[in-house]
Amino acid sequence: MKYHLTYSLLFLILLVAACNTKKKTDESIRQAETLFPKGEELNSKNFTGTVWLYMMGARDSTLHARFGNVTFAPKASTNWHSHPGGQILFITEGKGYYQAKGQPARLLHKGDVVEIPRNVVHWHGAAPDSEFAHIAISLNADEGGAVWLGPVTDEEYDSSIMQ
Ligand code: MN
Repeated sequence: MKYHLTYSLLFLILLVAACNTKKKTDESIRQAETLFPKGEELNSKNFTGTVWLYMMGARDSTLHARFGNVTFAPKASTNWHSHPGGQILFITEGKGYYQAKGQPARLLHKGDVVEIPRNVVHWHGAAPDSEFAHIAISLNADEGGAVWLGPVTDEEYDSSIMQ
């Protein structure tokens, strides 16, 4: 009887250990899939829809670059805006768009890079049916932060992505 109890206990311990290992593996896979942390949900009037931001790097850096990981829920986007010092986007997840004012929208996938010249009015955001994430690097940040304009209207969004 005592013999059986010992083996039952041992089995239980091994089962708990196995479950813990599986949980850790799941977390590792999820982190590997997102590449960079999703960060905090943004509460900003300069974006439409649900957006998460994870800023990286030191604020007082003499490199004058501000960079972070931005994740957009489906259809979420920035407002129209421009960057006095320019910006580079490295797409890391999903499907989305970049549009410079007066130009056709550019469809973007994981692995695409967008170079945004100084002072070009534009927006970036997710496709209607996909999350979208990019690393955004704002350059020459000592020359000023983003200049924010109005939201991308539903009409602008719909006509942009149909092109
Ligand atoms: Mn931008």
